[in-house]
Amino acid sequence: MQRILVIEDNKALAKLMAKKLSTELDFEVDVAYKLSEAKLFLKMYEYFLILTDLNLPDAPNGEIVDYLVEKNHHVIVLSGNIDKEFRAKMLKKNIIDYVNKGGVNDINYIINTIKRAQKNQNHKILVVDDSMVFRKQMQSMLENMFFKVITVAHGEEALGILNTIPDISLVLTDYHMPVIDGLELTYEIRKTYTKNDMAVIVISNDKDEETTALFLKNGANDYIKKPFSKEEFSCRINNTIEALENIHAITNHANRDFLTGLYNRRYFFEHGAKYFDNAAQNSENFTIAAVDIDDFKHINDTYGHENGDKVINALADILRANTNQDDIVARFGGEEFYILVKNITADNALNIFERLKEKAQNSVTISDNAQEMRFTISIGAVLNNEDSFDETLNQADMMLYNAKQNGKNRVVYN
Ligand code: GH3
Ligand code: MG
Ligand code: MG
Repeated sequence: MQRILVIEDNKALAKLMAKKLSTELDFEVDVAYKLSEAKLFLKMYEYFLILTDLNLPDAPNGEIVDYLVEKNHHVIVLSGNIDKEFRAKMLKKNIIDYVNKGGVNDINYIINTIKRAQKNQNHKILVVDDSMVFRKQMQSMLENMFFKVITVAHGEEALGILNTIPDISLVLTDYHMPVIDGLELTYEIRKTYTKNDMAVIVISNDKDEETTALFLKNGANDYIKKPFSKEEFSCRINNTIEALENIHAITNHANRDFLTGLYNRRYFFEHGAKYFDNAAQNSENFTIAAVDIDDFKHINDTYGHENGDKVINALADILRANTNQDDIVARFGGEEFYILVKNITADNALNIFERLKEKAQNSVTISDNAQEMRFTISIGAVLNNEDSFDETLNQADMMLYNAKQNGKNRVVYN
C-alpha cells in the first residue's frame, strides 16, 4: 500500500489527520512530530505525498519545506498563517498546495486534493511550447500534480506525438510558435478528437482581446492568460481533467450492463456492427457466439432471485477472464450473453467456447446461505459469418436453440 507522511508537532491534530486520511483514503499514514523524526521515516519509506506543518520544534522557520522540495517530494504545506504575502511566497516553491489546517473543511479539501492527485497519475499531458524555459516550468508543475508529461517545441512535433501516443488526455499549448501555431494545432486535433476525447488548453500572453474567444470557439477547452498564478493554473488543469473523467464515466454508464459491468446490448450492436464492416473489408476472421445459462429458472426457484444474480455475475467473470480485452462481451438481459471474439481462427474460437463451457460447469458459486450453486451453459457459435451483422446474430441464436434442443451444456456451431 502507498504511504502518506504527516509532519505536524500538534499531536492531537496530527493524529486526527492521520486517522481521517487512513479511513477515507487507501493509504498507510505515518506521523512525525519533528524534522528529525521525518528524516527517519523518509529513510525507511517511499512516500506518495507529504503533508507538513511549517513550524516544527527543531525547524522553527519553515526549513522543512525546502528540505522536502529539494528532495523532489510531493508536498502539501499546512499552516495557520493566512498572511497573503507569505502564502504567495510559499506557493512559489514547488509544492502542490498551501492549505489552512484544523477545520473539518480543510481536511476534506486535503482529502479531495489527494484523491485528485491519485487520479492524475492516469493522465498524460502533452506540453507544446517553443520556449524551453517555459516547457521545463510546465513540466515540473504538472509532474508535481502527478501527471505524466511529454514536452515538444512546436505544433508539428505535437502532431507526430499524437499519432504515436493517442491516449493523451490534455494538450497544453502555446499560441505563437514556429511552423504550426497553437490555433492550427487546435484545428488539427479537433479533426480527430472531440473536446470530450482530448482536451486542449491554450496558454498565451497574446494581448489581443479577441484571442481567448477565438480559441474557445475553435475547440479549446480553456484558455489561460499569462501571467497566471500557480493556483489558477492547477485549478484550471484539474477542472478540465475532471470534466473529461465525468464525461467518460457517463459514457461508460450508458455502455455498460448494471449488474455485471459487462457491455450492454446497445454497445454490442453499435460497436459490433462497426467492427463487422471493417473486418469484412480487411478479411479479418472473427466469431460471434450466443451464451445462455441452462435451466436458470430452476436456479432462481431454488436459491432465490438474488442468488440467481450471483450466478449471472459468476458467468460474467468467466467470460471476462477467458476473452481478450479487445473482444466484446455483452449481457443482453437475463442470463443471455453475446461474445464477439476478434481476429481469431475458427479452431481457436471453438477452443475458447469449449473452455468457457468447462469453466462454467466446474465453477461453484456460494449462495447467501452458504449453499454451493452449480450451473452449465449452452453456446451457439457462428464460424462462417453471414452477409450482415444482424443476420450473423440470428444465426448464433439459432445455434443456441439447437444446443438447447440437443441436451444443453454444449457448444453448437454452423
Ligand atoms: P433454458 O435452459 O432453456 O435457457 O431455460 P432457462 O430456465 O434458463 O430460461 P428461461 O428463459 O425459461 O428462464 C430464465 C429466467 O431468468 C426467467 C427470469 O425470471 C429470470 N431472469 C431474467 N432476468 C433476470 C435477472 O436479471 N436476474 C435473475 N436472477 N433472474 C432473471
Ligand atoms: Mg507547528
Ligand atoms: Mg437459460
